[in-house]
Amino acid sequence: MKIVSSRLVRLALSGLALVVSALPAAVPELRGVVAAKVEAEYPALEALFKQLHASPELSFMETKTAALIAKELRALGIEVTEKVGNTGVVGVLRNGAGPTVLVRADMDGLPVKEMTGLPWASTAVVKDLAGKDQPAMQACGHDLHVTGMIGTARTLAALKDQWKGTIVFVAQPAEEIVAGARAMLSDGLYTRFPKPDHALALHVSAMQPAGTIGYVEGTPYAGVNSVDIVVRGVGGHGSAPHNTKDPVVIASQIVLALQTIVSRETKPGTPAVVTVGTIHGGTKRNIISEEVKLELTLRAFEDKVMERLVTAIRRICEGTARAAGVPEDRLPVVTVTPESTPVTTNDPALTHRLSGAFRAWFDEKGVKSQPPITGGEDFSEFGRTVHRVPIFIWSVGAADPQKYADAEKRGAVLPSNHSPLAEFVPDPTLKVCVTSMSAAVLELLGKK
Ligand SMILES: [Zn+2]
Ligand SMILES: [Zn+2]
Repeated sequence: MKIVSSRLVRLALSGLALVVSALPAAVPELRGVVAAKVEAEYPALEALFKQLHASPELSFMETKTAALIAKELRALGIEVTEKVGNTGVVGVLRNGAGPTVLVRADMDGLPVKEMTGLPWASTAVVKDLAGKDQPAMQACGHDLHVTGMIGTARTLAALKDQWKGTIVFVAQPAEEIVAGARAMLSDGLYTRFPKPDHALALHVSAMQPAGTIGYVEGTPYAGVNSVDIVVRGVGGHGSAPHNTKDPVVIASQIVLALQTIVSRETKPGTPAVVTVGTIHGGTKRNIISEEVKLELTLRAFEDKVMERLVTAIRRICEGTARAAGVPEDRLPVVTVTPESTPVTTNDPALTHRLSGAFRAWFDEKGVKSQPPITGGEDFSEFGRTVHRVPIFIWSVGAADPQKYADAEKRGAVLPSNHSPLAEFVPDPTLKVCVTSMSAAVLELLGKK
C-alpha cells in the first residue's frame, strides 16, 4: 500500500514539475495523500473538462453546467441548493466545528467562435440571454475552474479526517458580465448559507505556463466601470449647420478631450484607462443628427481614482456641450451601467499565509508574485459586503509550456484569455487547480 501510494505520489509530483523543498513537518505527508487522490481522479476530471469545453453556455444561461455541478456535488454527500442568483449553485460540506471557507468557480463561456483547432475545441452555437444565437467558447477557462472545483470537492470530501469546519462551494454564473456575484449575494449567499471566514478563487491564464502559480499582493484585478454617454444636439439639414448643434462634432471633441483625463489629470505612475470602445450617430450624410452614443470602459486600481475618472468624464461632457452652445436641457447624459465591478483586493494576511502555503506545497520557482492586470473580476464583490470577508484569488498557468517558451524566445506573447485562439491545456493545469485549492483550504481548515 505504502509503496503503491508513494509511487503514485512521485508520478503526480513529476506531472506537476514539483520538487520537495523545505516543508513544514505536516505538509509532505498530506501533500502526498492529496497528490495521490488528484492523480487517481485526473482521467475522470480531464474527461469532465473536455465535456464542459465542448458545451459552453453564456452568462446567466448556464443551466446544463449548473445541473452537472449539482449532480457531482450531491454524489459526494454535499448539501446542494440550485438557482441561487439565477443559475448559481451552492454546495455546503460540513465537517464539525471550525471556520467556514468559500470556494468559488465561475461557469460562463463567451460569445466567441473558437479557432484553436484543438481536438476538444468547441463548435457550439447557443442562445444568449437576449435569445440570440451566438457561437460560444470557454475562452476564459471557466470550464477549468468548474472542473477544478469538482476535483477539490472530491479530494476534500475524501480527506475529511484531515480538516474541520465547513466548505461552501459556489458555482457562480455570469462573471463575464460582472453580474453573477452580485446576483448570488443579493439572493442570500451570506445569509441563507454559512457565512464564510475566507473566500477563495483561482483563475487560469492562457499566457502563463502550465504548472505555475501566480499571485498579487494587493489588487490583482482592476475596477471596471462601463459608461454610456449620449451626446444630444439639435438636428437639422446637413447644408445648414448654423441652425443646428451638431452632436457628431461635439462627440468628436469629447472623445479627444477624454484622452487628457489619464495623460493630464491622473498622477503619473497611477494606472488608469479610459477607452471609448464604440461611437454611433447619424443615419445619412446630409442630416445633422439629434444624438451620438458612446460606450466606454474604465479601469483603475483604486476606488478614488475610479471616482475621479467618472467625475472628469461628466465635467468634460457637460463643458464641451456648453462650449458648443447646446441648451441646458440637452446636455450629454452620462450613465455608469451595471456592467461594472469594483477593484479586487486580496486580503494582505490571507495572501501572505496562502502564498506561503503554496511555496511549501509546490516548487518555489513555480510560485511567483505577479503584477496586477487591468482586467476586472467580480470575485471582488465577495469581499465588498458589510461582512468584509477576506478574499484571495490566484492565477494558475494553462499555457502549453513548450509553446510558451517558443513564444518567449521570439519575443511574442501567446493568445490571451478571451481570444478565439486562447489555448488551455488540461494537464497539468487541472492538477494545479485542484492541488492549490485543496492546499489553500487545508491550510485554513487543516488539523493543526
Ligand atoms: Zn473572462
Ligand atoms: Zn474569467
